[in-house]
Amino acid sequence: MRETSKPLVEKVAIIGAGPGGLATAIALRKQGIDTHVYERAREFRLVGAGVSLKPNGLRCLDAIKPGLVDKLRRLGCQVQRTTLKTSTGKTITAYESPIMIKYGQPFLTIWWWRLQQIMASELPPEAIHLNHRCIGFEQNENSAIAHFENGKTVESDLLIGADGVNSTVRQILIGDGQPQYLGSMYWRAVVNYQEELLLDNEVILMKGEESIVYLLNVGALT
Ligand SMILES: Cc1cc2nc3c(=O)[nH]c(=O)nc-3n(C[C@H](O)[C@H](O)[C@H](O)COP(=O)(O)OP(=O)(O)OC[C@H]3O[C@@H](n4cnc5c(N)ncnc54)[C@H](O)[C@@H]3O)c2cc1C
Repeated sequence: MRETSKPLVEKVAIIGAGPGGLATAIALRKQGIDTHVYERAREFRLVGAGVSLKPNGLRCLDAIKPGLVDKLRRLGCQVQRTTLKTSTGKTITAYESPIMIKYGQPFLTIWWWRLQQIMASELPPEAIHLNHRCIGFEQNENSAIAHFENGKTVESDLLIGADGVNSTVRQILIGDGQPQYLGSMYWRAVVNYQEELLLDNEVILMKGEESIVYLLNVGALT
């Protein structure tokens, strides 16, 4: 890029306000790039259950936005102990891992919705456009134009598809078909915390014949 020329990328549109889309938006805005996120949901609701965040991911988040990981730590659970049990609750093994000392960041478990909420709060409200389901896009030599179900179109220098496993953007760009179901089902639920089931700094894996129950602390609701 010559000094006199205009930067190649000034405006970016990201489809999807999941962790991937939001982290990318925070990072690009930090570089001074006018970045907007378009999300199909009408509002950020209390959805999902627990999600694990490992030190490598947290180090990236900390580099993108110092202070963000501290918020996640305050509202999630810093795991220090992992316990493996039988399906009847008998402990097979338990170990404590000095992850924080070893990697400089903890192993966190947190409510998916909380992660989304904290990351979204790092962006100015006008950069997040809810109720924008992307239904297609086209591109020319200079820009990409995204089309939304609500009739709007958005032109940007760069379009990023962060719209999850059933990505519309990926389908149009690569067209490699629907994800393949491999026969495993993951059921998620959030229940009120009971200390006799789970210590507040613990994750438990209960192993049955053909299933695994994964218990983790998603942090407080408020
Ligand atoms: C609502 C939800 C709850 C989840 N809960 C958990 C959980 O509890 N535990 C866990 O381990 N994992 C959970 N996941 C999965 C996990 O978050 C993702 O697999 C992983 O974080 C990948 O993140 P991502 O940002 O790439 O995609 P995703 O997290 O899948 O985010 C994609 C985003 O794009 C939006 N979107 C999709 N299609 C369009 C479109 N056409 N136009 C506009 N927006 C679109 C979706 O609404 C979503 O907000 C959940 C995902 C979602 C969407």
